[in-house]
Amino acid sequence: MPAGVYLHIPFCKSRCSYCDFATDVYRDSDAVERYVDALCREIRSEPPALAGGQFIDDSVGSANWPAADATGSDIDTIYFGGGTPSLLEPEQIKRILNAVNSVFSVAESAEITMEMNPATVTPEKLDAYKKLGINRASFGVQTFNDRDLKLLARGHDANDARQTYRMLREAGFENISFDLIAGLPGQTLEDWSQNLDEAMAMDPEHLSLYLLEIHESTPLAEQVRSGRRTPIDDELAAEMYELMLDRLAAAGYEQYEISNFAKPGFESRHNTKYWRLEPVFGFGVSAHSFDGSERYANERDTAQYVEMIERTGSAETYRETIDLASESAFLGLRMNQGISVSAYVNRFGSDLIESISRLNESGLVEISEGHLRLTRKGMLYSNEVFVELI
Ligand code: SF4
Repeated sequence: MPAGVYLHIPFCKSRCSYCDFATDVYRDSDAVERYVDALCREIRSEPPALAGGQFIDDSVGSANWPAADATGSDIDTIYFGGGTPSLLEPEQIKRILNAVNSVFSVAESAEITMEMNPATVTPEKLDAYKKLGINRASFGVQTFNDRDLKLLARGHDANDARQTYRMLREAGFENISFDLIAGLPGQTLEDWSQNLDEAMAMDPEHLSLYLLEIHESTPLAEQVRSGRRTPIDDELAAEMYELMLDRLAAAGYEQYEISNFAKPGFESRHNTKYWRLEPVFGFGVSAHSFDGSERYANERDTAQYVEMIERTGSAETYRETIDLASESAFLGLRMNQGISVSAYVNRFGSDLIESISRLNESGLVEISEGHLRLTRKGMLYSNEVFVELI
């Protein structure tokens, strides 16, 4: 079973008001260059190995998923996440891919995704990325409403997003995903509906749609605390979620995970590895890895990460052996297919399944065709289900 590789690029043009990711503002090209050198060094330093023994239930997932590569390759997905990887020059991306190729055998059919933000690419840059093998673009639209983009401090407007999408198509990208966020302070159901209209009209292959989470220590959380912004109420959030499910289904998108929707055959192969507990090796600041048995993570501060790599070749600061029984249930329930009850019970016993099944009465989960899965209500209130797994 090939693994995935995740590469974290921690630079952004500016800092969005809701963001709690490990990213820095791109100020100094020398610092970026030093980071890219460190990232390449980390990749080359000690090739990670699979631990084996991962829980893979083939009944969990969509029949439309592309088959796993059978050629014996080490990896079949590469994902540049961030941050804003599209701030990097093609030459820097090339160096990173060369480092990956020097350590792993990469399947010819590998899915290679790059996260991009509007107003960070040009036709020339996209053309160069495409030539390097990037074949999937995931770009952060968040909303087509300029008032809300200002609230989020996104640093671009809706026209930038439309233009980036056009440029991606003109550059020949045939697998495009974008993100939208529902439930912004002050957003109405009508606003959200207009966002969905525009997204459907653009016709991307994949959409990731989230309800806004307000993280402590972000500027948005401070604006809420001080009363300058008012979060939407639960009832409106539920209406937005219902509207989203109905509209996407009507437009031919299959929901395959709580927040992810795809045209048939365009599910994210890389992200699906996380939900199916398949191995993914992460490189870069704050990157997480899972080798089939243990999960480990790198230092979260970029300057510290670079120093650690330059000194020792490793920036690992955390490692744990995961509880496969609860992780498998937690991740399996995120997917629409749910958990195969018989496969799960055979492997882990029935305790956890029985305690989750009790939520049947509150309409949060259901069992049908031998699978335990979240209902629509359960997806909206998934935290109430997941608390059973702790
Ligand atoms: S572009 Fe993305 S990663 Fe960068 S600050 Fe905004 S939300 Fe965070």
